[in-house]
Amino acid sequence: MPRPLRSLRSLLTLLLLVLAACGRPTPTPEPPPNIVFIFTDDHSARAISAYGSEINQTPNIDRLAAEGMRFANCFVTNAICAPSRATILTGLYSHANGQLTNQETFDGSQRTFPKLLQEAGYQTALIGKWHLKSAPTGFDHWQVLIGQGPYYNPPIRTATDTTVIPGYTTNIITDLSLDWLQNQRDPARPFMLMVQHKAPHRRWEPGPDHLTLYDDQTIPIPDTFFDDYEGRASPAAEANMRIDENLTALDLKIVPPNNLTEEQLEAWNAAYGPKNEALRERPLEGEEFARWKYQRYIKDYLRTVASVDDNIGRLLDYLDQTGLAENTVVIYTSDQGWYLGEHGWYDKRWMYEESLRTPLIVRWPAAVEAGAVSYDMVSNVDFAATFLDLAGATIPADLHGRSLKPILLGQAPDDWRDSFYYHYYEYPASHCVQRHYGVRTERYKLIYYYLVDEWELFDLHEDPDELTSVYDDPAYADVVSDLKAELQRLRTELNVPDDDRPSGDCTFDAEGWDGFEAG
Ligand code: CA
Repeated sequence: MPRPLRSLRSLLTLLLLVLAACGRPTPTPEPPPNIVFIFTDDHSARAISAYGSEINQTPNIDRLAAEGMRFANCFVTNAICAPSRATILTGLYSHANGQLTNQETFDGSQRTFPKLLQEAGYQTALIGKWHLKSAPTGFDHWQVLIGQGPYYNPPIRTATDTTVIPGYTTNIITDLSLDWLQNQRDPARPFMLMVQHKAPHRRWEPGPDHLTLYDDQTIPIPDTFFDDYEGRASPAAEANMRIDENLTALDLKIVPPNNLTEEQLEAWNAAYGPKNEALRERPLEGEEFARWKYQRYIKDYLRTVASVDDNIGRLLDYLDQTGLAENTVVIYTSDQGWYLGEHGWYDKRWMYEESLRTPLIVRWPAAVEAGAVSYDMVSNVDFAATFLDLAGATIPADLHGRSLKPILLGQAPDDWRDSFYYHYYEYPASHCVQRHYGVRTERYKLIYYYLVDEWELFDLHEDPDELTSVYDDPAYADVVSDLKAELQRLRTELNVPDDDRPSGDCTFDAEGWDGFEAG
């Protein structure tokens, strides 16, 4: 490279760093990029081959990773559906946006990044799962599932009406997204489209194309599947989210979903009928039954993931064919991680790695190096600032997150965070996971279960599966002391209220399934 050009590039890099440090938007190429945010519900990174999955293949998500940047350490602030969505929209932790659990109604009058993008001249659209109870605000166009929404034949709500659309929900959400891209948006203006799937959320009902996928395979069982929870504080053993105890007949497809058309039910019964009959004829028990439940659970989960991946391929093909791909930022992420049998569990909620961690892949051919991997500690609380930065809009100073754009451009700031605050609130409630907050650093994780006043400390280098708390080990006394100080520093910086201790009884919303009734 000729010297003057190199100097100019260095100067520009310096300018970008200075601007980023000031909290101002990083300069964006003209025209500003479109943003397609593809969002799933409960997708563990360990069910994505780009993240090294040993149990499935996701060629279309992998394509995004191969052509963009994969984030190896993306953490959520509160690992449950509605709070994650509220954090993404507002760029704030749960205590500041009011969505502590799935129970509250989201306050749609507050500042959100879609509203700020509208002010910056973007068209905004939301299609798929919303799950925040109040009507969406900040969108020029929206078509959403009601609540969790079903996997088949979903009612779709708009600003004016609700219509049942026959078919498989993952396909339908993609159909509606493609229709908006093709026929409804203004091609003269940049857009931000949120494509939000229900899948692979419970009850993991596969689509018509994947009903028998994996039938001829045995999926490897995680090393920690038969965890006895020794060596940790009391909450882990008390949670109701065990594959061997808490899955229901509907979860396990012993009975079919109750909203299928005759044709859909026929295909369903052709796939599950013979397998259920075999179990009826040879009932299982004990460890053998637990292993059988795991196979049925994990295969159904991965079948719904396969449909998501196919449909991402349809969306990427459209962007390629229309020439939109080059200057469209495509994000793939999920609302939090998920247990694929680790510790014997399904579900999420914990600050343990499997649910704290969520996949994040960003492709932007015009600016992001293909095949890049970031190990920076990033979070869903950073998304709002990132989208505003991408659009060239001003980033409000009081957001809790920071723009990932410098990282995407290969210029990670020197002062990027090296500790991360987490806080889970939904207790008492289904699954009985104790409220907790904590801090994670590159090596350690300190967790405080504040309703029962118990602590855990994990040394992630020595114990990546988090099987043994070293909180009481004298060798870690200094680490505990330092992390407690850091935890308090983060809580002060984020203005977390001290008084966050409700009371109530632990409940569980569904009976586990033990086997066929006699006779
Ligand atoms: Ca979720």
